[in-house]
Amino acid sequence: MSKHAQKYYHDQMDKNAGIQHTVHRTKIVATVGPACNTYEKLLDLVRAGVNVFRLNFSHGSFEDKKTIVDYIRKINKTEPYNIAILGDLQGPKLRVGEIENGSMEIKEKEILTFTNEKLLGTHDRIFVSYPNLYQDVHTGNTILIDDGKLEVKVVKILKNNDVQVEVTSGGILSSNKGINLPDTKISLPALTEKDLVDLDFVIKEKFDWVALSFVRSVKDIIILRNKLEERKSKTKIIAKIEKPEALNNLRDIILESDAIMIARGDLGVELPIEKVPLVQKQIVKKCLHRAKPVIVATQMMESMMERNKPNRSEITDVANAVLEGADALMLSGETATGQHPTLVVETMRKIIMEVEKDDYNYNLEEELVPQPHSPSFLSDAICYNACKLAKDVNAEALVGMTQSGYTGFMLSSYRPRSPLYIFTKERSLVNQLSLSWGVRAFYYGEEESLDDIIFDQIDILKQRGFIKSGDIVVSTGSTPVDLHLPTNTLKITNVE
Ligand code: PEP
Repeated sequence: MSKHAQKYYHDQMDKNAGIQHTVHRTKIVATVGPACNTYEKLLDLVRAGVNVFRLNFSHGSFEDKKTIVDYIRKINKTEPYNIAILGDLQGPKLRVGEIENGSMEIKEKEILTFTNEKLLGTHDRIFVSYPNLYQDVHTGNTILIDDGKLEVKVVKILKNNDVQVEVTSGGILSSNKGINLPDTKISLPALTEKDLVDLDFVIKEKFDWVALSFVRSVKDIIILRNKLEERKSKTKIIAKIEKPEALNNLRDIILESDAIMIARGDLGVELPIEKVPLVQKQIVKKCLHRAKPVIVATQMMESMMERNKPNRSEITDVANAVLEGADALMLSGETATGQHPTLVVETMRKIIMEVEKDDYNYNLEEELVPQPHSPSFLSDAICYNACKLAKDVNAEALVGMTQSGYTGFMLSSYRPRSPLYIFTKERSLVNQLSLSWGVRAFYYGEEESLDDIIFDQIDILKQRGFIKSGDIVVSTGSTPVDLHLPTNTLKITNVE
């Protein structure tokens, strides 16, 4: 490791707050649940390295979520963190209904009947929460139950619209298990009635990010975007990629979304499981090229639900996701219901920092050259050259300013080795940028000359102990300041 690199990996002290800042550049998203739902436990997780909390609308009440939102806002107000809140909408998740006595064994070759009539499931008939099932499926289509542990194939559509299936892989069928239809085009809307109610809560509580599950096409994202715009919401959109159909429409979905989540749980059920690793790599690469934050999710440290050490394969999975270029890694059950939520985050952070110390692919600007046909070509070129310059002069800080977030996401996508500080007068962005690789964001509302702004920002970084006299800072900005143009200026400063 170069001397220059080494310096960044000593935790920097925030002189004002007197606490250690985490300096992992790849961010950590943690799902909130009963294992971490008190103020103290959430604060422990933040201190261990969490940048974004995910509230999953598949579980829990609004009342519980409101309490968690208030705790996170309190942490942001009283501690030196900008933790983002992410609401994960369930989307058109299909399930079987209640089963008599909670569960029953289904055997290979057994014939079962799925119905949209609400009843207690037996070997005779089983309720499925999908009214159009009989219209959408065809004979021979596969239906997977409980993350693919059980499998049935459609045999016949009956006159009363029930669907007869034959069990091809048997086992225990329990109440409310999820179902996936990998080779059926599902006609359910992207936002279900439940999602609309949950979205209302997300908007009212000003969540930073909202994730949409089971995205199939760019239309799903546009519908959600319109709903947010109708309410003048600043919440940004994450498309969860977990359906084969989304992979066919990936380019457009990435362009229309603000960020992407690779939801490997359902993706690994809907796709042949062996395809998931390469699909993950391809999605991460595409997101890097479009400067859209990308989250790798699900079962990253699953064994730590019970144990106090991860499996060797999990350590490698986390490390590889970092090396591939993910912006963020997500913990689900590990922090929501696991036995060691704080230890999991600490362990994940250690793995991330070890990879970022040495092997990590910093300075991707050689690979991500700005495209002349892009409408943002000129500001992209400034960001690109800012990162190049920061590398050439061994800058202690790369500083960007943004109103839309674009410059923040763009500078981050080049993965600069110099620490990246983004200033914005848009308060909602300060937390939203917490999802983005390497970004530390600050609110800054002054509108003086660009010289004064850059001077102020350097002073703030100096006051907070991030830089010192003699350091070199590379800053981007926009001039004339009052015209709020896209980034068009690059400045280098030797700190006094
Ligand atoms: C997934 O399927 O991997 C995922 C993150 O979604 P959920 O936890 O909502 O099933």
